[in-house]
Formats: sequence, structure tokens, C-alpha cells
Amino acid sequence: MTATTRVRAPNQSFVERAERLFPGGVNSPVRAFRSVGRQPLVLERGEGSAVWDADGRRYLDYVGAWGAAIVGHAHPAVVEAVTSAAADGFALGATHPSEIALAEAITARMPSIERLRFTSSGTEAVMSAIRVARARTSRELVIKFAGAYHGHADGLLVESGSGLATLAISGSAGVPSAIAETAIVVPFNDTDAVSLAFARHAESIAAVIVEPVVANSGVLPPAAGFLEHLRELTRATGALLIFDEVITGFRLARGGAQERFGVQPDLTTLGKVIGGGMPIGAYGGRADVMDLVAPAGPVYQAGTLAGHPLSMAAGVATLAELTPGRYDGLETRAAELALGLAGAAVGSDAPVSIVRVGPLLTVFFRSEPPRDGGEALESDRTAYARFFRAMLQEGVLLPPSQFEAWFPSMAHSAADIATTIEAARAAFSRSAA
Ligand code: PMP
Repeated sequence: MTATTRVRAPNQSFVERAERLFPGGVNSPVRAFRSVGRQPLVLERGEGSAVWDADGRRYLDYVGAWGAAIVGHAHPAVVEAVTSAAADGFALGATHPSEIALAEAITARMPSIERLRFTSSGTEAVMSAIRVARARTSRELVIKFAGAYHGHADGLLVESGSGLATLAISGSAGVPSAIAETAIVVPFNDTDAVSLAFARHAESIAAVIVEPVVANSGVLPPAAGFLEHLRELTRATGALLIFDEVITGFRLARGGAQERFGVQPDLTTLGKVIGGGMPIGAYGGRADVMDLVAPAGPVYQAGTLAGHPLSMAAGVATLAELTPGRYDGLETRAAELALGLAGAAVGSDAPVSIVRVGPLLTVFFRSEPPRDGGEALESDRTAYARFFRAMLQEGVLLPPSQFEAWFPSMAHSAADIATTIEAARAAFSRSAA
């Protein structure tokens, strides 16, 4: 190569090729970085609390594989488990002992789940749980909360959070209106609105599905008594309560949000952490409800790669790392981070509120913490975008959207947290208009 040859940096070259190959250049919308006004990163490697882009630049990572990487990237025990499982073949097309091991690890930690089914994604888990609820109740309507995200199955892409909030769209094209109309969308934390929906439609409501802590509009904690209210109303009317714990499961506590808040759902959906970064989903609940699923019962649901041995191995190894002491450590780190960020924001002109529930947090560019998805949408996205870019320059990778939670991991050290807070001090001053 001569000195005059112009070589595009590998990251840039991958971005250009990806743009030709994938819609918007990505295989999942928020990865495109559009709402933060920047070229996306192409990440090649992760280890512990850090990731490296194709140019070899290192970032302290708070995306955490969108919640899956609770023990950090490429944790040695998880790598070892997956590598040794791979040597025995991948999908074998029959039940594998590792499915039983992971199911036992899950049911031991979440007593509301007596029986479960593994899927390949959270979306499938939610879609299937709703099918079960409809079969169980012979009803069709589902209450969901504005700003919550439950995957991309047709019936739930209505006023969703995550990528839909990021792209400022209230629903997806291509969803038949007859299906969208089976969702009743209610503001999160609005007990009166839920009661009203039940007063109007009690005979037709199959289920209420809720992220017990919304993590897809940024982090929105449940108001005191809200989850209990959902539990009482569903019990009184014969509807099922579904906790979508795809994010909160095994993250907010050893037994998930249901343990942390002391409310037991009828059905739970899981993903992310239980696969340790490999493709996974699961749904489960009481045995008599789950026995509606084929071949035990009439609700059809299946998957060629469901219960994949590599996902199971990664999940078992990940859950084994999640001891009570390590949850305490993670929560302490996250609390230090939230406190430090609040301190770093003092003196900047940007209105900022930091919301944390356990190890999930969001820096909202809004003077008051939002109570629901609608209030979250009032946050200053342009300020977030400036903050995001400034943090990236400092070597800290945040979720590329105001509406996604930060996921500190158990691999984040005290020094990582201090670095993040220092970076934020500089970034807050640059995020004010
Ligand atoms: N439910 C919740 C609460 C989620 O956050 C997500 C994904 N972010 C899903 C369901 C869908 O999971 P997946 O992307 O694995 O389909």
C-alpha cells in the first residue's frame, strides 16, 4: 500500500456494505443509531464490561447485548460451557439434557413457573403466552401498556416502546387492523384506566400483559400498588396476568421482578439473561395452564431450534453465576452509577432526571422522572443524542436511544463506574443546547 492510498476505516466500510445488504443497514432497528444522529458501530468483540468496534476502538458498554450480558461479555464460564456443548453437536432435534437443567434452574428461582416451554426469542415467548391466555379464557382482548414493548408479534405492536418509540411510530405497517384491535392500550401506572377498561370489557379480556418495570420507554418503575391492582383485577375477572420478564427476569433479583415486588403472575415470559447472550425465549406458569400447550393440550406452538443445546448451556452457566451476593454487588454498582451521574449533571443546563430500579437505569432529559410512556416521550431526544455522542467520544457506549435502559453488568468494576461518571461530567455540559 502506498502512502497516498486512501483506505476507509473498517467500521465505515462495514457500515456501507451493511447498508446495501440490510434494510436500514441493520438486522434490528435500534442498532442503526438513527435517533442519535450518528453512523452505527460495527462491534467485533466483547469482553467483560467492554466492546471493541471494527476499527479496534474500545468502549465501556452499557448496551449489554440489550440485557442479555448480565455477567459481562465472553464470561469464561459461559464460553467454556458453550464451547464444550458445541463439541457434541448443535441442534439434535430431540430433547437434550441441558433443556432440563435450564428449566430446573428457572423453576427453582421462579416458583410461579411450574412448567415452561423454550422458544428461540422473546417475541415468540410472548406471542405464545398470549395464545395460551386466549385459549384458557376463551376471550380475545389483551390489555397492554403504552410504551411497553413485548416483541414484534402483530397483536402487540401498538403504542409500543423500544424501537417504535425511538422511531416515533405508534404502530407497525402491515398489522391487520382486526388484530391491532384486540389490544387495549392503557397508560402505565394508571390504575383508574385499567379499572375502566375492565369495567367496559371484563367479559372479553383474556390477559393483562405488563413489563413489571417498563424498560422499553427508558426505565419506568411501577407505582406503589399498581402491580397488586393488576393482580386483583385479573383474579376477580378470570383474566390471566402475564409478566413480561424478558428484561427483568433474573436481572432485578434472583427470582425476577415477581420476587422483588412480591406479586405472582399467572404466566411469565423470559428471554435475554436465561440464554446468556444466545438466542432464547421461554414462557411458563402453573402446570394446569401450561398443559394447554401441544402436545399436552390444544394450543399449538413449536420450534425447530427451541431448547437449542448451545443456548441452554449458556443459560445454565449464566444462571450459575448469579448468586445473591453478585446481585447485591451489581445493585451497589448501579446505585453508585446513578448517584455519580446525578452529581455529574449538577451544574449542566440540561434538565435531567435519573431513574433507577435495581440494576436498570435511564438518564432522562426531562426535569421530572416520567411515570408512563407518554411522559417519557416528552424527554428531549436531541439532548440525549448530544449526550450519547459525547459519551461515545469519551469511550462509553450507551443505548443509542433515549428509550432504552442502560444495562450495567456484573463485570463493571468500580473503576468502570468512575470512568463513566467522569465522562458524563464532560458530556452533560455538551448536551445542554
Ligand atoms: N419483551 C420485552 C420486555 C423485551 O424487552 C423484548 C426485547 N427487547 C422482547 C419481549 C422481545 O424479545 P426478542 O427481541 O428476543 O424477540
